[in-house]
Amino acid sequence: RPGDTVAGIARRYGVSADSVRAANGIVDDELYRGARLIIDGSIGGGSSDGSSASRADARSSSSSSGGRYTVEEGDTLSGIAEDHGVSLSALLKANHMTSRSLILPGHTVVIPGSTRSRAPSRRPSGSRSAGSVGPDLRCPVPGSSFMNDWGFPRDDGGRFHEGTDIFAPRGTTVRAPASGTVVFGRNHLGGTTFTLTTATGWEIYGAHMSATIGSSRSVRAGEAIGWVGNTGNAAGGDTHLHMGLKRVGGRAMNPYPSVRAACG
Ligand SMILES: [Zn+2]
Repeated sequence: RPGDTVAGIARRYGVSADSVRAANGIVDDELYRGARLIIDGSIGGGSSDGSSASRADARSSSSSSGGRYTVEEGDTLSGIAEDHGVSLSALLKANHMTSRSLILPGHTVVIPGSTRSRAPSRRPSGSRSAGSVGPDLRCPVPGSSFMNDWGFPRDDGGRFHEGTDIFAPRGTTVRAPASGTVVFGRNHLGGTTFTLTTATGWEIYGAHMSATIGSSRSVRAGEAIGWVGNTGNAAGGDTHLHMGLKRVGGRAMNPYPSVRAACG
C-alpha cells in the first residue's frame, strides 16, 4: 500500500524487518504497490548484503514467526486458524478480514505469529551458507533487465507472480543458470519451458522461450539452451524469460536475489 515500508510492515506483523526482507527476497528495500509479501520469520536467511548477525536475528524470532497458507477446497477460516495454532480473531486481523469474509481455493492468507513450535524450515542443505536464500547461479540472460516482481498480482489478483521476469529482445540466448539436468516442455501458461534440476537439489523453471536449443539433456552452467520469446500466456507481451525457483519438492521462492547476484 502507498507509504508502506519494510520496517513498518514488519512492525505491523510483529516480525523483524530482516525476516521480511529474507522471506521476500528484498535486497534494496524497494516495495511495489499491490505486491504480496510473505510474512514468515522462520525462513531466516538474509539479503545479499545481510550480515550473519542479522540472519541470527531473523532466526531467533521464531516465537513470533508467522507464515502464509494457500486456501484449499473445503477450508474455513476457523479451521485454518486451528490448524496453525492461532486464534480466529488474530487470523482475521492479520488479513484485514471479518468472520464473514469469503475465502476461495488458491487464495493466500497470512498466518500471524504463533508461539506454538513449528516444524524446522526447509533450509537448503547444499547452499553456500546456512542463511542464503537461493543458489549461486550463472546469469540466464546476460544483458537483460528485471526487477523484484515477486508477489505482483496477476489475473486481477486471482494469483500472484511466483518468479522473476527477465526481459530481453526476442532471440536473446537463454543460458543454463546452473549445471544439471534440463528437461524441455510445453504448456499453455509457460509456452516453451525448461525445468533444470541441479545435483544440489534446486529446481529452476524457465518459460516463454521462442524455441529450445537441442533436446532435454545434462547441461553445464552457461550452456545455451534456448531463446527468449513470449510463448504461452506472454503472447503479445514483452519478450522475457519467466524464471521460477524452488527446492525440489518445496515451495516456490523468490529467485530475484540469485538472479540479481548473477546478472548484476
Ligand atoms: Zn513471470
